[in-house]
Amino acid sequence: MRLTAHVTLVGSGAGGFDLTDPLDCHVYLVRGTKASALVDAGAGRGVDAILHNVGAPAPAYLLLTHGHADHAGGAAQLARRIPGLRVLAGAPAAGWIAAGDEAMLSLPRARAGGTYPADYAFEPCPQVTVVDDGDEIDLGGVTLRALATPGHADGHTCYVLDTAGHRALFSGDCVFTGGRVSLQNLHDCRVPEYARSLSRLAALEVDALFPGHHEICLSRAQRHLTAAHAVFEAGLLPRSTT
Ligand SMILES: [Zn+2]
Repeated sequence: MRLTAHVTLVGSGAGGFDLTDPLDCHVYLVRGTKASALVDAGAGRGVDAILHNVGAPAPAYLLLTHGHADHAGGAAQLARRIPGLRVLAGAPAAGWIAAGDEAMLSLPRARAGGTYPADYAFEPCPQVTVVDDGDEIDLGGVTLRALATPGHADGHTCYVLDTAGHRALFSGDCVFTGGRVSLQNLHDCRVPEYARSLSRLAALEVDALFPGHHEICLSRAQRHLTAAHAVFEAGLLPRSTT
């Protein structure tokens, strides 16, 4: 599903558009003149469908927003299927993804709660390396910049996409349309860090918002970031979604 001249939606589950496996987050493909990048991997049960939607040429990068299984569970399979794929994630999540550390990735509670089937397991992805705040990935005419945005989970990273006259944000589970966020009763969900992350996003002046689930916003998207930031600034918690 083509969204802009450079961005295509290649995966999306029950919390989105049911394009691929129900467990998948939104999976985006960003194409430049030199290379392309996937943003997030989905849960790993819809990899065939995602790769079908990606087509050729194969992406050079997989940029993970965080380690939760619906975003990073498919990373190992994608790395196997796409030789030379560079897989990047923020620390400390990168280490948990590389090791398949289900406890630190908060999978047992989500599995017990029925979010994932009882037989779902997180496949370790040893290829993952750390992306740092401010790192830039040049795809040719298109640049992606990593923005450390902890709060929803440790290591959460958003990616800012700058093309000529247009800025988009891949926000993972940090912020959604309507100024919603994702606060969960998990070991690394941290409200003060979340508020600081929204302060950073509130200064971005983005045109488009490409979150990990739910609706996508193609223009005038800064209002969604401003709305979440304003609630945090008032000392309250924005409306939360899963
Ligand atoms: Zn998450």
